[in-house]
Amino acid sequence: MPGKPQSFPEVFGEFSFFRGRVALSAILRALGVSSGAEVAVQAFTCIAVPEAVLACGAKPVYVDVEENGINMAAGDLKRKITKATRAIVVQHTFGIPADMAGIMRVADELDLPVVEDCCHTYASTYDGKKVGTFGRAAFYSFEWGKPVVAGLGGSAVVNDRELKKEVSKLYNGFARPPLKAEHSVNLQYAAFKFLYRPSVYWAIKRSFHLFSRLGFTKGNYNMVSTDTKIAPEFGWKMPDSLKKRMLRKIPGVARIAQHSNRLADYYREQIKHPAFTRVSAPANSAAVYARYPLFAAHKDRLLAAASAAGIEISGWYQTPVHPLAGNELREVNYAGGSCPNAEKAASLLVSLPVNEKTSLADAGKITRFINTWE
Ligand SMILES: *Cc1c(COP(=O)(O)O)cnc(C)c1O
Repeated sequence: MPGKPQSFPEVFGEFSFFRGRVALSAILRALGVSSGAEVAVQAFTCIAVPEAVLACGAKPVYVDVEENGINMAAGDLKRKITKATRAIVVQHTFGIPADMAGIMRVADELDLPVVEDCCHTYASTYDGKKVGTFGRAAFYSFEWGKPVVAGLGGSAVVNDRELKKEVSKLYNGFARPPLKAEHSVNLQYAAFKFLYRPSVYWAIKRSFHLFSRLGFTKGNYNMVSTDTKIAPEFGWKMPDSLKKRMLRKIPGVARIAQHSNRLADYYREQIKHPAFTRVSAPANSAAVYARYPLFAAHKDRLLAAASAAGIEISGWYQTPVHPLAGNELREVNYAGGSCPNAEKAASLLVSLPVNEKTSLADAGKITRFINTWE
């Protein structure tokens, strides 16, 4: 069941940063996470999450997702916790709320702080309560794939008074990014806003990768730090121009959620192809999706066909720590085979657009493509 659309201006306010991962690293540092510590994160995530942990000098430890799901399994969380664990990052993947009852039980038992990754949703609910209000803190991102797009940027919402004081102290030491970085984000935002619609998804993706390789643009999924140097971005606030843009978007937030629900309902009712199955979600939850996820048999073949036909079907996450593969996974501490459900999800999961630029007619086209696929 889709969640009741709500407006949550508070998620854009309190502490705003250059990116979502910067918000996460600030929260973790405020929680005392530093070198020698471990932070439990889920596999089937993107590089932004482990990078934030590494930026604190700590080690990400990967927890598997539930079977037939894309969120953290409370049972595996319990197994992965060690004496060095200092925090748990819970991701509400694609907007589906995680098993908060199970996860909070493990966290409370061991007295570990929970940070909620709400980058994919600001409106989903669990037990009638908005996600982002269960843990000590939550963080959001406003880059391209997210429900509300500012270009880049992230925010931290802190639910705990003591922790808020610590985040505040750190935040005072954050700098305004250089104008060059701000301009580059704004240029990309303008281009994206002007160009993107579902029918040109693949064309944009191809040119984005090309520009990224040539060094003109920054991929959303690149690791911004290197093994020897933490990127300066980890000390930057959100630029004022992006903040202004976010504030302008707040009145439209409920409408964005409503539109997302409407398209998700449409996909749910209309997609009938037997090779596509739904992703499981807690019974007591209501998701407002960033994208509508489905498990698809023959993912690679499907994506190739969708690309050739100019139909927006996305394949992320393609790996347990998207987009890393092989040796790169080991460098962020992910051991191949350690999270089999997450690896299976990466090999099957595809997602459909539910954003503002996707019309019901676009959703119809995507649905027809799926229903008539071999
Ligand atoms: C986008 C995203 C982030 C943060 O990404 P930034 O590029 O740092 O803003 C974190 N977690 C998840 C699950 C995301 O999708």
